[in-house]
Order: sequence, then C-alpha cells, then structure tokens
Amino acid sequence: MSELRPPAAPRRHLLAIGDLDSVDVERILETARALAASLDREVKKLPTLRGRIVVNLFYESSTRTLASFELAAKRLSADTMSLRSAGSSVDKGESLKDTALTLAAYDPDVIVIRHPSIGAPQLVARNTDAHIVNAGDGKHQHPTQALLDLYTIHAALGRLEGVHVAVVGDVLHSRVARSLVQALRIVGARSTLVGPPTLIPRGIEALGCEVSTDIATIGDADVIYVLRMQAERMAAGEAFVPSLREYTAEFGVTPERVRPGQVVMHPGPMNRGVEIDPRVADSDVALVADQVRAGLVVRMAVLYDLVVERPASASGTTVDVSGEGEFFPALAGSSHGEVS
Ligand code: ASP
Repeated sequence: MSELRPPAAPRRHLLAIGDLDSVDVERILETARALAASLDREVKKLPTLRGRIVVNLFYESSTRTLASFELAAKRLSADTMSLRSAGSSVDKGESLKDTALTLAAYDPDVIVIRHPSIGAPQLVARNTDAHIVNAGDGKHQHPTQALLDLYTIHAALGRLEGVHVAVVGDVLHSRVARSLVQALRIVGARSTLVGPPTLIPRGIEALGCEVSTDIATIGDADVIYVLRMQAERMAAGEAFVPSLREYTAEFGVTPERVRPGQVVMHPGPMNRGVEIDPRVADSDVALVADQVRAGLVVRMAVLYDLVVERPASASGTTVDVSGEGEFFPALAGSSHGEVS
C-alpha cells in the first residue's frame, strides 16, 4: 500500500470535491491509511509540517471539523491558530476580505475556512497566498467530510466501487449530501437521495445520483447515510415538512428500517429521535464514531497533500509513503521521524 502517485500538477486548494479526480482521491485515502497506522504508535506526533502555519477560520459553529483540523495540524507539528467569528474582529464588522488580508500578513501556509456563504473559500483564496481548504461553505460543499466518509465506507465494507449509499433527509440544505454524491461518483459508487420532495432540490440528479421520496428505497442500499434536519438554514416560517413528528414517522431511520448487513452513517451533529432513532445511533451498525476518527487522519492527509512539496510530481513517478523512503520520513517508524 506504499506506492502513491502524485498528481500531474500539485493542487493549491481543496475548495470542492470536484477539484479531485479518482487518482487524487485514492492517493489521499492511501495517505490517510498510512497516517492511521503511524498514529497507533505511542508517540503520535509527526514532524511533517514542522515550521508551517495552519489557520482555522470558522464563521459557523463546528465541533468535529474544527477539532479534527486543529488536532490534524498539531499531529503534523504545524503551528496552528483557530479563529471563530465570535470574539474576533468579524464581530466588529470586518469584511471577510479584510480578515483574509490581515491573516495573510502572518504568512500562513494553509487557511481552513468554514463560512455560511457559498464561495467564501474562493474569496479567501483570491486574497492570500495560502493553500485554502473549504471546511463547509453554506449548503454548497464540504469536501473533507466526503473524503472521511469514503474512508469510513472503505474501512467498513472493504471497497468503494459498486457500493450503494442511500442519503436520507434534508438534502436541500446539505453541503454534505452534495459533496458525498460527487465523491461517490468519482470512486464508482452509487447513490440515491431519499426524502420528502420539499427537501430534495429539483435537478439534483445532474450530480449523478438517483432520487426517491419513498423511505423503503433505503432497503436496497449497503449504507444508509442520515442527514441532519438543518433548522438553521431554514428561514423562519418556512415549512419544509408538516411537523418534525411527521418527518420522523415517515423518514426517521429506525431499527425497523435497517436491514441486517447494512451500516448507518451520520455526519453529526445528530438530532436523536428526529432523523435517527437513538437505538440505531447507539447500535453496532452505526459508524458515527468511525467517521469522527477518520476525520482526523483524512484531514492530516489533506494538509499533507496540499503543503508538502512533491519533487516527483512533474515526472509522474511514484512516491513512497511506506516510511522507508525519504519523502515521508515522518512515517518511517524510527525515532528520528518523531518529535515528542
Ligand atoms: N457537520 C456537517 C456540516 O457542517 C453536517 C451538519 O451540520 O449537519 O455540514
């Protein structure tokens, strides 16, 4: 598993899952697996990004994404700082462009940004020299979530190609659904979006998925991927479902709706008792904790993939991440590759 092919030209940013092709996705997942093996050791810190600066700029609430990006950067020995909109000058009305220009003065290598507006990561990319990672922009994209979901599915089922994923719930407001459907397509998996017609955007099939308004469809899938009802993205007074109780009765993922052999995923945060029954969330078929764990190694792999120079990239030769070569000495498993 040690030979990875670098892209023809190094990418500067990860703004959307469509920035990646199947070779990129496979390379990032392989790197994440190599990193997961390295984290089994007692000393968990690798020197790979020593001297680099990673800034997390979060304008929307986050638990998993922010925590895992912060830890990912630290495990790779980068210097990190995290700015949330509350408590920063954003509170005082500073524009995103001015905030980006201010941060640029510190010369960060990577800015990880979450923002309620679609396209905010692109704006920051235009105004700094840093590599930009989109950690969620409005209902548009959340590429690292899609990558960690692919990692989790592969770990659970041993394959991605041909896997059928039913994505259930509030697709309309979900950047997770949009990114995941595209990611599944890249790796040759199949997806069906399931939910009430009011929560499935018209024309979404163009992303390469099927659509169903019948919850029974989830019985055909290998993976049931449950989406959160995203009340914060629904304007006050807008009713997408008659009531949450009715939504739960018709589309809630209950033990009765999960057949043996299926696994259940949820990006978090979960609304227990709304889109997912607690008995499912707490059962062995739920991969929610695996997703959280995958988030760390996948985000480490994404940072590595963007920042670390690939001297061999222009020639298209392979790169050794086994730890035996010099390119990724951090994974060598020797004490010289570790910092305490
Ligand atoms: N945590 C995911 C996101 O940031 C899913 C969610 O919020 O429902 O999009």
